[in-house]
Amino acid sequence: MGISLDIAIAGAGPAGLATALYLKRSGHRVTVFERFDEPKPVGSGLILQPTGLTVLADLGLLDDILALGSRIDRLHGADAKTGRTVLDVRYDAQRGRRFGLAVHRAALFGVLFRAATREAIAIETSTEIETLEIGERAMLICANGRRTGPFDLVVDASGSRSRLRQYLKDPGEPRPLAYGAFWASLGWRGEGFDEHALLQRYDQASVMVGVLPIGRPEPGAEKMAAFFWSLKPADAERVRALGLDAWKARVIGLWPECAVFTSQIDSFDQLSLARYGHHTMKAPAGRRLAVIGDAAHSTSPQLGQGANMALLDAAALSHALTQAGSVDAALETYVRARRWHVRVFQALSLAFTPFYQSDSVALPFIRDRLVATIAKIPPAPQFLASMVAGTMIDPFSRIGLVEAQWDFGQNPDRDTTAS
Ligand SMILES: Cc1cc2nc3c(=O)[nH]c(=O)nc-3n(C[C@H](O)[C@H](O)[C@H](O)COP(=O)(O)OP(=O)(O)OC[C@H]3O[C@@H](n4cnc5c(N)ncnc54)[C@H](O)[C@@H]3O)c2cc1C
Repeated sequence: MGISLDIAIAGAGPAGLATALYLKRSGHRVTVFERFDEPKPVGSGLILQPTGLTVLADLGLLDDILALGSRIDRLHGADAKTGRTVLDVRYDAQRGRRFGLAVHRAALFGVLFRAATREAIAIETSTEIETLEIGERAMLICANGRRTGPFDLVVDASGSRSRLRQYLKDPGEPRPLAYGAFWASLGWRGEGFDEHALLQRYDQASVMVGVLPIGRPEPGAEKMAAFFWSLKPADAERVRALGLDAWKARVIGLWPECAVFTSQIDSFDQLSLARYGHHTMKAPAGRRLAVIGDAAHSTSPQLGQGANMALLDAAALSHALTQAGSVDAALETYVRARRWHVRVFQALSLAFTPFYQSDSVALPFIRDRLVATIAKIPPAPQFLASMVAGTMIDPFSRIGLVEAQWDFGQNPDRDTTAS
């Protein structure tokens, strides 16, 4: 589209900030509205997959994020009681020298936010968008009653609890999943842990402990780890009532090396309780409104795709606006471009999550016996690698991207975190 549009973006998470960068660079007038007083990241760490890294490369931010994150070559899980490996997914089972990049949320947020600031993108904080009025153009109504607009397009990037998606037909709401997790960001202690792997221990599917090296939240800070313990949100109060020492003893009983992490926890206040829900919008766009990121599709983090899908949505919407002749046509193109990738990964996430987080006895039995064996026989390792990488269905060609290739040059084992 050759014209400059007035565009409002609700939410300054990864989806909203990446969209703002793309659209500002395409010549549109962009304002981001964020309910927090100061834009800030929520939560601990996450893995950027080759999909999300390709979007960051397209935005010219790859070096910035590589300098902070921790390169992840494999995901490894073992039964806590027997020590038997029941999950071993290696990114390099597929062509190319792929890897994931585990980052502190603050690192991803900081890289996007600093880029937005450099490009003088308007970000209005302490502004919660409550409702929309959609006519010829769109007006936003804020929680304090202020009306702002008119806008040619509103982008809802307000996360899984979005209120704005209700302006579309059949928006759905996230269905709560049985299990969530306690998460903490702790200092990285390397002994007994692989700095290039997500490591997990399981006891059936009702207990999962994980350690993810996440690099540095900002340049010069100490290296950190995301530590998580899965549990039902409904049980969190009971666990707290039993006391921190009892919980730590349970963790260490299953995985003694984790004492280097639990010893950094002095209070349950250091553990945030994450609740997960699942929903997928069938058509995340309509008149003057595009819904992207978790607002359009949320799920458990088992496959580690959410932030990556949010970044792909941002690239897809921007590509559609550049290619199409009108806003309506661009929104249709955006929905079509993302439809199958989103649906397939949401379905995979829903199918796989109960193998790792549920009360089932049969599913972890199948996981530990059958799946662990089959997973070693080609093409299963390649299939699993493409599932984790987010590339099992090509997410790139329909949104004008080519998967980024990284050259680690002279030293293929280079640690991506600055020492
Ligand atoms: C514990 C945990 C682990 C995860 N691990 C991974 C992983 O390994 N890999 C991965 O890819 N993903 C992971 N995810 C998922 C990932 O965090 C999300 O998919 C991603 O943050 C979605 O980005 P978003 O920008 O769509 O939404 P959010 O990050 O939720 O951002 C939404 C923003 O909108 C703001 N907002 C909300 N409502 C309004 C309003 N009405 N007006 C104005 N502003 C508003 C919020 O304050 C927030 O800043 C994980 C999630 C959790 C909870």
